[in-house]
Amino acid sequence: MTVYGATNDSGVRTGELRRVDVVVVGAGQAGLSAAYHLRRRGFAPYRAGADGGFVVLDGDTAPGGAWAHRSPSLRMATVHGFHDLPDFELPEPDPDAPAREVVPGYFAAYEARHALPVVRPVRVLAVRSASDLPDAGTDARTGAGTDARTDTRTDGGTEDGHEVAPGGRLLVETDRGTWSTRALINATGTWTRPFLPHYPGHFAGRQLHYAAYRGPEEFAGRRVLVVGGGASAIQVLSEIATVGETVWVTRTPPVFHDGPFTPEYGRAVVAKVEERVRQGLPVRSVVSVTGLGPSVAYRRAEELGALHRRPMFDRLTEHGVAWGDEELAVDAIVWATGFRPEVGHLAPLGLRSAGGGIALTGPRATADPRVHLVGYGPSASTVGANRAGRAAVNDIVGLLGAPAPAAPRPAGPAVAPAAGTAPAAVGGREPVTVAVR
Ligand SMILES: Cc1cc2nc3c(=O)[nH]c(=O)nc-3n(C[C@H](O)[C@H](O)[C@H](O)COP(=O)(O)OP(=O)(O)OC[C@H]3O[C@@H](n4cnc5c(N)ncnc54)[C@H](O)[C@@H]3O)c2cc1C
Repeated sequence: MTVYGATNDSGVRTGELRRVDVVVVGAGQAGLSAAYHLRRRGFAPYRAGADGGFVVLDGDTAPGGAWAHRSPSLRMATVHGFHDLPDFELPEPDPDAPAREVVPGYFAAYEARHALPVVRPVRVLAVRSASDLPDAGTDARTGAGTDARTDTRTDGGTEDGHEVAPGGRLLVETDRGTWSTRALINATGTWTRPFLPHYPGHFAGRQLHYAAYRGPEEFAGRRVLVVGGGASAIQVLSEIATVGETVWVTRTPPVFHDGPFTPEYGRAVVAKVEERVRQGLPVRSVVSVTGLGPSVAYRRAEELGALHRRPMFDRLTEHGVAWGDEELAVDAIVWATGFRPEVGHLAPLGLRSAGGGIALTGPRATADPRVHLVGYGPSASTVGANRAGRAAVNDIVGLLGAPAPAAPRPAGPAVAPAAGTAPAAVGGREPVTVAVR
């Protein structure tokens, strides 16, 4: 793929500017849900050479979002829960099938079924207001004949018969050139930002974050310390305890939720996370608020006696960890200590509030109505991502106005093929390939 674009003094690629109405960043559950709703509301899929419509830019080489990278040992029976994307059902999967195969196959089929314009691999490096460019307001032309004055206008109004949000257009700088857009839906998840807490000392043995965990086999006959109080720690404990010895430590006592996960309970949990995000506080995962439920992995870990939790150690030592004078030797440490939202590319927009997080009103960034975050905070679950995608698109229609009536939906079954079936077979359509010149 050719990389277009010269670089000007501000580091912005200005060679060829592709102009659309909406850019979605990320093609995981949240990005695909948003893309589906954009199509449904009449936004045209991006076509090379044509202005307008929407595009999905995804940093991965293949469909699947974070699911494509999860441990091969994570089976459909042991995922925390999975909700279908809108308007395309995943048939009851084999509980023993690896989630990293089933879900990416389903996403690939989904992209094909709904003819979603996903361009990959394209990594978004920075998003900024066109009006922040040094040459904003001048008569400079950008590359292939795009008038920079149009793209840097800050006063809202209309452009080509469409509304322009206050602040004007956004420039989305990627490793494959720059896109100009009226609105942005950020759906970049957390998988690419594993979080490793700092503890004093140095451990000479094997250490890995959950993101790099590939199953229990390498730990056979070893003593493994598992750090973390979430669902991923429970998964790791339930697997390694079948082949080795485990020690579990958590910073705070884990919260167990014995009751059923009713819709009312789910709503109460989401409301708690939502409130933090409204206030612009750093987000917490939904699971950290739901507590640990009676999952398959949880029951297995319990049966194996792996749920005797110890408090967090004080420091790392060469051969293990220590609580005061007490040292425990271990062969390996698995840090199941979570992830942080992948939002660094939004930094030029200055969205962070004094509280340290990005304040949202619904899925919209409170500080910039052009920007929406889905799969973030209260919507960082498969069901939450579905809802946030719809809400973000409704909001964008309110902001930009509704485009022309939706094209008729592609024909085809409303159920995805079983895992392993080629996605191209779904509904007789080929996955959309968008040429990035
Ligand atoms: C360990 C773990 C386990 C989980 N288990 C469950 C579960 O069982 N059930 C559940 O409902 N939820 C679970 N979740 C919550 C999870 O966040 C959601 O389920 C959901 O799948 C995430 O979807 P997403 O679209 O937000 O992100 P992702 O699936 O991570 O997709 C993000 C996409 O954005 C792309 N991207 C990232 N940065 C860029 C960039 N700069 N430029 C271009 N593309 C970019 C990535 O390549 C990726 O394709 C889990 C989360 C974690 C961390």
